[in-house]
Amino acid sequence: MELLKEKIAQNGIVLSNSVLKVDSFLNHQIDPLLMLEIGKEFVNRFADKGITKILTLESSGIAPSVMAGLQMNVPVIFARKRKSMTLIDDLLTSTVRSFTKNETNEISISNKYITENDCVLIIDDFLANGQAAIGLIDLVNQAKAQIAGIGIVIEKAFQDGGQLLRDKGYPVESLARIASLEEGNVSFVTESIT
Ligand code: 5GP
Repeated sequence: MELLKEKIAQNGIVLSNSVLKVDSFLNHQIDPLLMLEIGKEFVNRFADKGITKILTLESSGIAPSVMAGLQMNVPVIFARKRKSMTLIDDLLTSTVRSFTKNETNEISISNKYITENDCVLIIDDFLANGQAAIGLIDLVNQAKAQIAGIGIVIEKAFQDGGQLLRDKGYPVESLARIASLEEGNVSFVTESIT
């Protein structure tokens, strides 16, 4: 997605060889028009998959997911990382090792919102080693729902997550794929995935 790649090239800050900061449009301040276009792109890429729900992880997956949900006309559920006083229904729970925070989080959703009749699109902001996506897949599996695919805003293709998920047979669509962050430069993958 060219608009996203331009935004990353202009505003992304390379913190290390493996971490990209995009606080100015995705992870802290949010660019709503860009999110709208990201939502449209997810709709294009997952058209005709019979999606009934979108599942993401708080907090940075919420903005792109809501824009996709708005245009697909389906509800968006975000898994919570902390126990909430109001999230007291029967919970589906998994654990996720956070790539950026170096901590393990329990993630949960109420079993009310995803059921065996659902076909779920999983969306997240970044794909690194795939742990967040694996945790979300686990929640969908516990709900006995189907997985339509995984939509990622920014995939760091030099890390293992994309391969791991594709090898498991999940359709993964990433709107920008980064080949390298070495020497402070963002370079994108140019070829498409076969
Ligand atoms: P994974 O679980 O695939 O290893 O990492 C994905 C999760 O870690 C995403 O939900 C995202 O929040 C965070 N993450 C991974 N790499 C980066 C990065 O380079 N920059 C930012 N801002 N977040 C990242």
